[in-house]
Amino acid sequence: MELKDIKIKRNVLLNPGPATTTDTVKLAQVVPDICPREKEFAGLMHGLRGDLLKIVHADPKEYTSVLFTGSGTINIDICLNSLLPEGKKALIVNNGAYSTRAVEVCQYYGLPHIDLRSSVFELPDLALVERTLQENPDIALVYTTHHETGTGILNPIREIGALAHKYGAISVFDTTSSLAMIPIDVQRDNVDFCMASAQKGIMAMSGLSFIIGRTDVIVRSKDYPKRSYYCNLFLQYDYFEKTGEMHFTPPVQTIYATIQALKEYFAEGEDAKWARHLRVNKALHEGLAALGLKEAIDPAIQSGLVISVLYPDMEKWNFERVHDYCYERGFTIYPGKISTTNTFRLCSLGAIDEEDIHRFIPVLREAIEAL
Ligand SMILES: *Cc1c(COP(=O)(O)O)cnc(C)c1O
Repeated sequence: MELKDIKIKRNVLLNPGPATTTDTVKLAQVVPDICPREKEFAGLMHGLRGDLLKIVHADPKEYTSVLFTGSGTINIDICLNSLLPEGKKALIVNNGAYSTRAVEVCQYYGLPHIDLRSSVFELPDLALVERTLQENPDIALVYTTHHETGTGILNPIREIGALAHKYGAISVFDTTSSLAMIPIDVQRDNVDFCMASAQKGIMAMSGLSFIIGRTDVIVRSKDYPKRSYYCNLFLQYDYFEKTGEMHFTPPVQTIYATIQALKEYFAEGEDAKWARHLRVNKALHEGLAALGLKEAIDPAIQSGLVISVLYPDMEKWNFERVHDYCYERGFTIYPGKISTTNTFRLCSLGAIDEEDIHRFIPVLREAIEAL
C-alpha cells in the first residue's frame, strides 16, 4: 500500500483553527527522518520563508519572514517585547480578546503601553486613535488585531496603519486569523509587521508560527532592550541570515506539511481561496437564519470568517450537548469568547466548502431538536 492510499477520517472543523487540512498536507508529514541542521532542510526553510512573503505581496528587498516554533501567541509576545525602543510606548487598539492578549503581554514584560479599549461589538474609533497618537508623541508602535477572532469583527488595519505612519510609529498587526484567507498587501494596507501560524489560513499543522516584517526595523531593533531570549525577533532573524536555520529545534514535520500546504495555496489562488471561505460563511449565515439562530455582531463589520452565534432563548439549551452531538457526526463547533454575552462560534477556515455546511446545518438542527 502507498501513502496516498491511506484513508484518514475527515472532520469538518468549524472552530477558529487549527483548521481542516487536506490528506495531502497530512501525509506530507510522513517523511524519512532528517536532522534539521542538514543543508537540505535549511533549503526547504529558505523556500518557505520566501513563499510566506508572496502571500502578503511583500517585496523581499524590504521585508523578511522569521519562523518560530510555537503557537500563534508566540508572535504577539515576540513582536511586542522585541520592537519597542527604550523609553517608548505601545498603543494597543483593543476591541476584543486577542488585542487584550497583547495588553497582557505588555503587562507581563512591564512595557509602557496604552490600552485603548472599546466595545467588543464595534469597530474602533479612528478619531480617538488619532487623538491618542497626537497626545502621546512617545508612541513608537501601534498594534491591533486584524480579524478579531473572539467576535468575528474585521478591523480597519489600512487606516490604523496610515495613522501610525502619520505619527512616526510602526504598525504591528495580528493577522493570525486572516492571513492567507483575506487578501493582504503589506504596502497597500500599511503593514510593517504581521504574523500568523501554519494551522490557520495556510491550512497546515500547529507548531510553526511566523512574523513578516520590515527588515530595516528588525535590524534597528538589535539595540532595543533585550526582554526575552527565546522570543527575541532580531536574534532569530540574525541566526537565519547567518546560517539559514532556526536558532533552536524547528517543528520538522509541521514544516513539511506547511510546504505542501503552500503549494496547494498557490494552486488554488488568493482570490479563489477567499471566495471559497466566503461561500462557506454565506452558507453558515443562511443555515443559521433558517434555524432561527441570531448573530451577535452586525454582519456589515464581520470578517466573513467567524460568526458569533447568540445562544437561543430556549430553556433546554445546552452548548455542550449540541457540541457533542455534532462532534460525534464529524463537525466541531466552538465556544464563544465574549464575556458579557453567551455565544458560540462557527468559522469558515480550512479545507472545507459550502457542501460541508449543507451537510452540517441539518445535523445542528437535529442536535437542537434532540435537546
Ligand atoms: C489563533 C489566534 C492566535 C494564536 O492563538 P494560539 O492559541 O497561540 O495559536 C492569535 N491571534 C489571533 C487573532 C488568533 O485567531
